[in-house]
Amino acid sequence: MLIIKDIYNLKTYLKAFRDKGYSIGYVPTMGALHEGHGSLIEKSHNDNQKTIISIFINEKQFNDTQDFEAYPRNKGDDYNFCQKHNVDIIFEPSAEEIYPKEYKSIQNSHFQNILCDEYRPGHFNGVVTVLSRLFTIIESDKVYFGEKDFQQLKIVEKLIKENFPNLKLVPVSTVRSDEGIALSSRNKKLSKKQMLDLILFQKEVVQFIANLDKKIDLIEANKKAGEFIKPYEKFDYFEFRNASNLSFEGSLSESRLFYAIYKSGVRLIDNLEF
Ligand code: AMP
Repeated sequence: MLIIKDIYNLKTYLKAFRDKGYSIGYVPTMGALHEGHGSLIEKSHNDNQKTIISIFINEKQFNDTQDFEAYPRNKGDDYNFCQKHNVDIIFEPSAEEIYPKEYKSIQNSHFQNILCDEYRPGHFNGVVTVLSRLFTIIESDKVYFGEKDFQQLKIVEKLIKENFPNLKLVPVSTVRSDEGIALSSRNKKLSKKQMLDLILFQKEVVQFIANLDKKIDLIEANKKAGEFIKPYEKFDYFEFRNASNLSFEGSLSESRLFYAIYKSGVRLIDNLEF
């Protein structure tokens, strides 16, 4: 396994792979790796001869400096994790390497003013900016994204369609704990008690969904969602949206439930399908 920090060396190794005719799968991450990331890596191994993962905590996508500073970091564990998952290259660049002085930010123009875009203004501009840069540097055949960050997945789908026609996007289902909690780097920040609260909340949400008539439309479903979430603690959104265009059109059976909640200052997002 190679750990590469600079673009020049990275390109040299990637070219050697390409010259041998190897297909390359790419998994972008912000580190603090867990089996959710592991599932993206394994999917890439199934599809490609070589797999590269990037670890880069992209400050541009944090609209809150404190959140950026507090984001979990565990380098040594990440290297062991990648070794265990037979990653071929870890690309771990510095901010200076990714953003040279002349580099211009990109504006996202899709799925705006809803869900995370409404509550984290500028977040997706940071996401498309770093991904455009990374896709251009790495030029993989395929790239792997989790459905856990569903709005991000939809935005990346547009980005690739418009700007990277040779890159194939592969979505990967959310990996959950036995109790149904979506694995997330941010879960590491929860105490045992907060995790137990989250498990209880998740069970109640699953029960709430199971009791709904799947034929009702999303307007009615969201009235019920609003009632359900009222007694709970701080949340940014808790709503059903059409899974193909993230609108409020259609029936419950075509939707996912999207939520962003806070557990003692830790912001957690998830989406549940039927
Ligand atoms: P992150 O390091 O949080 O930026 O995530 C990197 C990639 O891993 C993104 O495509 C995420 O959607 C994906 N991912 C994160 N958690 C999970 C999970 N529990 N299941 C599947 N994919 C995930």
